[in-house]
Amino acid sequence: MKYCSLCGAFTTFAIPPGDNLPRHVCQQCQTVHYQNPKVVVGCIPEWQDQILLCKRAIEPRYGLWTFPAGFMENDETIEQAALRETEEEAKANVTLTGLYTVFSIPHVSQVYLVFRGTMKDPTFGAGEESLEVQLFNLDQIPWTEMAFTVIEETLRLYSQDRATGQFPTHVGTIQRGGKKGR
Ligand SMILES: [Zn+2]
Repeated sequence: MKYCSLCGAFTTFAIPPGDNLPRHVCQQCQTVHYQNPKVVVGCIPEWQDQILLCKRAIEPRYGLWTFPAGFMENDETIEQAALRETEEEAKANVTLTGLYTVFSIPHVSQVYLVFRGTMKDPTFGAGEESLEVQLFNLDQIPWTEMAFTVIEETLRLYSQDRATGQFPTHVGTIQRGGKKGR
């Protein structure tokens, strides 16, 4: 941040008194502009044995596959965000059945929260941000065309859990370079 978003003056990047990390501080109005991680909320829409995936129509990762997910908006809950993204990107209506994965992605300052959701009916379609939306059996998931490591990792856990039918909430970390740990 080069300019103060409140008064337009230059900012400096320095540790404010009493703080322990450098912040963007306005040289004129002294406002400290804190920058914190963004929350991304997603949903794995399920229809019988299949799940609904979207081929991205936007950068980054144009043409690669994901489940519906996007940045949480102000003034909404995580459940509302999951339903909204599923409707916007896949034109599908789901009933959320539980929080499934929570991933920290520290190198991009994001937190991913992914729900499972049962589709109310088998209708869906490509929203503005999708080239194509399709139901997949788990053995048809396009593993080599996944948009993001966090998507791939969530779907790998999902495939494993399908074998037992138990879907506990998984908490993990996606490291830079796609290596994962938990
Ligand atoms: Zn200012």
